[in-house]
Amino acid sequence: MEFVPLDPNHKKVGMYTCGPTVYNFAHIGNLRTYVFEDILKRTLMYYGYELTHVMNITDVGHLTDDADSGEDKMEKGAKREGQTVWQLAEKYTIAFQNDMAALNILPPTIWCKATDHISQQIALVQELEKKGFTYRLEDGIYFDTSKFPKYAEFAQLDVENIKAGARVEMVEGKRNPTDFALWKFSPKTGGKRQMEWDSPWGIGFPGWHIECSAMSMQYLGRQFDIHCGGIDHVPVHHTNEIAQVEAVTSQRWVNFWLHGEFLVVQKKGESDINRMGKSEGNFLTLQVLMQHKFHPLAYRYFLLNAHYRKQLVYSEDAMQSAQNGYRNLQQKIAELKKTAGDQPKAELVSSYHEQFLKEIYDDLNMPKAVAILWTMLDDKTLSPAQKLALIAEWDRILGLELGKISLESTEEIPAHVQALAAERQNARKAKNWAQADVLRKQINEQGYDVLDSKEGFKIKRL
Ligand code: AMP
Ligand code: ZN
Repeated sequence: MEFVPLDPNHKKVGMYTCGPTVYNFAHIGNLRTYVFEDILKRTLMYYGYELTHVMNITDVGHLTDDADSGEDKMEKGAKREGQTVWQLAEKYTIAFQNDMAALNILPPTIWCKATDHISQQIALVQELEKKGFTYRLEDGIYFDTSKFPKYAEFAQLDVENIKAGARVEMVEGKRNPTDFALWKFSPKTGGKRQMEWDSPWGIGFPGWHIECSAMSMQYLGRQFDIHCGGIDHVPVHHTNEIAQVEAVTSQRWVNFWLHGEFLVVQKKGESDINRMGKSEGNFLTLQVLMQHKFHPLAYRYFLLNAHYRKQLVYSEDAMQSAQNGYRNLQQKIAELKKTAGDQPKAELVSSYHEQFLKEIYDDLNMPKAVAILWTMLDDKTLSPAQKLALIAEWDRILGLELGKISLESTEEIPAHVQALAAERQNARKAKNWAQADVLRKQINEQGYDVLDSKEGFKIKRL
């Protein structure tokens, strides 16, 4: 389907991507989704659109299951770490932003925290209430999905067959199994919650889905172009987001939905493939990947070799071959730079450039785009300067920092040390001095040191 922005001048594009719940580190499965969204975003910007990208930070605790019951993830995380929920949110927000920077994911135009937008969420629930879409149960205010006839359309849900207990466990009194909480009351027993707010219905906290509806409308309007997330968001989270908004506005909310497929894991010797997930207990963080001596951008390169709508199997072997591929790419580019010397910047070779853009603009066909990059590098009819010009241009979309490569950086400094230094640089930018010190220590332990300079930093052997 051809992408056409809502803006009558076809210039401005609004995009909302569901952000992380900051109760723990993101895992590399989550990060796959954010890399896919970054490629989409870079592609739209490359095309020339003025993009406004909004990403939320979910710092209000969701309940640990989809049934609007169970333990609060944030409160549980705070207990685990002996911190307040607010400290926990701050810690993992910074960690997430560091992961993004290490993967060269561009920050959104607007970050918005759920806890900074409680009044907007309450106002949206009030609108729903006025229009008769809500009902009250002992533990909260619920959305009556039977009042919104299009509810099943988006995810093609077979509502008739969704039995209580099959999709989500039934909260007592729920009118339909697909109904969901808009506002939850603070429990009367079990101690005071750290995060709770007054509301027209009583003290409590917003439901799982309302923040994305309320904040996206605040920053992008009641209709906007693109909304993204992982594939698991289709049947519940995004279906509910749509219901909350369209019940109020009575018009189409988002024009284009894009969902990234899962990063999956296959255990050695087993045929089962499982989603990488926190509850599955099979996840890796980016930090752990780096401890295994993988460069974050080698992980980005690994991701680019699969289409975003296809599952991708993670294994250490596959990751190692991606890292080898990325190293070869760096090596080739470093050699090209050496040969090209001071030659002036060449024009883009249009045959290759057009092929590359054709693949990118065709639903982000990254594996094909990467294949074109390799074919171009091996083409003996192109001069080093022509190759370097194409690489610099394409890297605006690929985001592999291919323009910054020098022989010095690729030959001498191990990838994981470079990654630690980049992470330290990000921590410094965020004025997180304590973390910067920890990272310098880790770099020292590897036998290297970093020297800070106006242009950035240099790594040298101790
Ligand atoms: P969460 O913090 O659980 O809301 O997840 C953050 C984002 O990561 C969401 O867009 C999820 O759909 C996505 N996600 C979760 N698990 C995976 C996975 N294994 N592979 C790719 N994306 C995932
Ligand atoms: Zn969302």
